[in-house]
Amino acid sequence: MIKFGSSGNSLAYHNAGFDGSSHSAKWVKDMGLDCFEYSFGRGVNLSSEKACEIGKSFKENGVEISVHCPYFINFASPEEQKVINSYGYVLSSLEKGSLMGAKRAVFHPATQGKLSRIDAVSLATKNLETLAKLIEDNGYGNMLICPETMGKSAQIGTTKEIADFCTIAPFFYPCLDFGHINSLEQGSLNVKDDYLRLFDIIEKGCGFEKLNKMHVHFSKIMYGPKGEIKHLTFEDVEFGPMPEPFILAVKERGISPYIVSESAGTQDIDAKTLKTLYENA
Ligand SMILES: [Zn+2]
Repeated sequence: MIKFGSSGNSLAYHNAGFDGSSHSAKWVKDMGLDCFEYSFGRGVNLSSEKACEIGKSFKENGVEISVHCPYFINFASPEEQKVINSYGYVLSSLEKGSLMGAKRAVFHPATQGKLSRIDAVSLATKNLETLAKLIEDNGYGNMLICPETMGKSAQIGTTKEIADFCTIAPFFYPCLDFGHINSLEQGSLNVKDDYLRLFDIIEKGCGFEKLNKMHVHFSKIMYGPKGEIKHLTFEDVEFGPMPEPFILAVKERGISPYIVSESAGTQDIDAKTLKTLYENA
């Protein structure tokens, strides 16, 4: 089943007087949404007790939860310690995520640094093979672990690179962040065919099943010559991508991705807009 939800708590959630995540599940359910992404972006600083508590409220409300791993992961670092730390960031996200009942985890694979593109990608590939073994050995092979397409040219994670990473293990599924792709490609996403082109890269690269159940981040993002600058809301009229052509492409392909809005403050309203567009398409 296709799912629509928000990344983190919206401004409206905070303005209603809620803090933390104890009411997040009920909030997104009452908005008519299906899922929620919990961010460990700044680190996995959540006790096991709290993780179980959050998991319980999501289960009770019938809302699916996913987690976003820390932003400082870098599987193309030439420094071994940084790669070892990166394994730890993913595994601790999976540990707390699984206590929360999460079936999916998203991560930013790497930055290019001083290496050539080809060397950085091959180093990341080798380290992701090790990560895949660690995931399996630690019993998280039943989750979907999703490397994400990135928005800056200095980062590793073009659509093709992500499709290739997803051939490493059966549980690696692509996370397509269309705001990132649009930023990296300087406004390339305008019509339905622009999305179908990306869907083709994923399907050819790692198969229909991974396209069908892929993870999606969708929000408008401001960009400059080097790519992503900052996340916007659907009210912005200057930057894209526009949601309608994306929804038409999803409908045409008949796929069922897990779609998360990362709008700045209106992530619940904008996720609902995406869902309504889908239902009316
Ligand atoms: Zn991300």
